[in-house]
Amino acid sequence: MANIVEPTIFELSSPGRRGVTMPASDVPTTDLPPQSLLRSDLPLPELAEVDVVRHYMKLSTFNYSVDGGFYPLGSCTMKYNPKINEDACRLPGFLFSHPLQPAETAQGNLALMYEMQEWLKEISGFAGVTLQPAAGAHGEFAGVLMMAAYHKSRGDTRRVKMLIPDAAHGTNPASVGMLGFTVVTIPSDPRGNVDLEALKAACDDTVVGMMLTNPNTLGMFDEHIEDVIKMVKDCGGLMYGDGANLNALLGIVRPGDLGFDVMHFNLHKTFSVPHGGGGPGSGPVGVSQRLADFLPSPLVDIVEEGDDEIAPLYGFVAPKHSIGRMKAFHGHFGGGLVRAYTYILMHGADGLKDIAQYAVLNANYLQARLRGTYRIPYDRICMHEFVVEGRFDGSDVRALDISKRLMDYNFHPPTNYFPLIVPEALMIEPTETENKDTLDRFADAMIKIAEESQTQPELLHGAPSTTRFGRMDEVKAARELVLCCWLPEGYSDQ
Ligand SMILES: *Cc1c(COP(=O)(O)O)cnc(C)c1O
Repeated sequence: MANIVEPTIFELSSPGRRGVTMPASDVPTTDLPPQSLLRSDLPLPELAEVDVVRHYMKLSTFNYSVDGGFYPLGSCTMKYNPKINEDACRLPGFLFSHPLQPAETAQGNLALMYEMQEWLKEISGFAGVTLQPAAGAHGEFAGVLMMAAYHKSRGDTRRVKMLIPDAAHGTNPASVGMLGFTVVTIPSDPRGNVDLEALKAACDDTVVGMMLTNPNTLGMFDEHIEDVIKMVKDCGGLMYGDGANLNALLGIVRPGDLGFDVMHFNLHKTFSVPHGGGGPGSGPVGVSQRLADFLPSPLVDIVEEGDDEIAPLYGFVAPKHSIGRMKAFHGHFGGGLVRAYTYILMHGADGLKDIAQYAVLNANYLQARLRGTYRIPYDRICMHEFVVEGRFDGSDVRALDISKRLMDYNFHPPTNYFPLIVPEALMIEPTETENKDTLDRFADAMIKIAEESQTQPELLHGAPSTTRFGRMDEVKAARELVLCCWLPEGYSDQ
């Protein structure tokens, strides 16, 4: 199908069309600012309400969404976002509260934040939790700041190295780099674990700590997790857990119990807050007892105990050696915390455990169905996701071609070319919210595409052919970036 260029809202404009009629002004007029500050004209589009609604309604159908279909984007945890979350975060008491109103008048909000801190502590096994960070990477930055503050508080200033496995998410080295620490990459062993020999060689008294994703981005639970943590601690390092994705662990393993010192959660992955354009994200951080005094400030606490008749009074408190504030006001309250709170409340403890069990079951079912058709380089029981190679012997079909062809079967592609240690990686995370029929349809499509790669490879190279836009020239898109498609005449984006 040819690429169709849709008219912009400006091109749909016609002089004199109106969507709203303003009432006559009932307040006194004031003088305009000086002429030099005024524009001579402002070319706003003129449209009727129905034109605007139809335009944006149509645009909304161009995108693929979790509400529209299966979205197995590995490590991104594109689970279905229950609509009850939306009702809860739109309750007037939450929606119309203001971050600057006195804490005594926002006790419901503070109670929710306090309970959320407590629940995340219970889920993860940590001693303290901050809700401030705006997303996973921001939580990593907060966590690494606390690790640095801890070593500094002990006069231990030689520590400059952060150990990061080669399967790590790119945000890990980026967060570490922002503090000026040196990243030391630790290879994975043939079973997808941290290579213990390499770790041993890297451990010395210059180590800040290690940032470990477990299960890692191969979907593998590290078989020597206790040895890894012990080695890092024995050389005086702290253990950072990348908990962006807790889908495999909920209700089953608590990272705090394993010996991690600090970990961020992604409420916008594990706890069903929409992401990928649906935001905002939220990246709370949990810490062990020895880092608790360094948490960002403020935290929510009970400042006056209640009893049978009087509710407790909640207030803001500052940890003793706090690294300071990480975010304006109190993090992403309505869009992040209220939605995630609703999700946890709705599931309860048993329900959270079910999430982990079904997420792991679904991933293993898909892995089993694709085994034999696709090469699986780290082939053992997986956790919430797994990685296959998107290439076949004697064929020039690549992972990208397979992903594009999946769009013709109306599936969102898996994560491509990540983790970096798998050639032509296709990283698949079905999540717990998909039923067996959907998993089977996806597996059937993947198997069909593998057949097509032998019989009709041109179908894959040219894909997608049924979508609104065809194959993009990715090099051109990156080199000649156009951030604004249309500007009214006389305006530039400089
Ligand atoms: C998503 C993800 C992150 C980063 O989270 P953001 O909210 O996108 O900043 C970090 N680590 C892992 C393993 C992730 O999957």
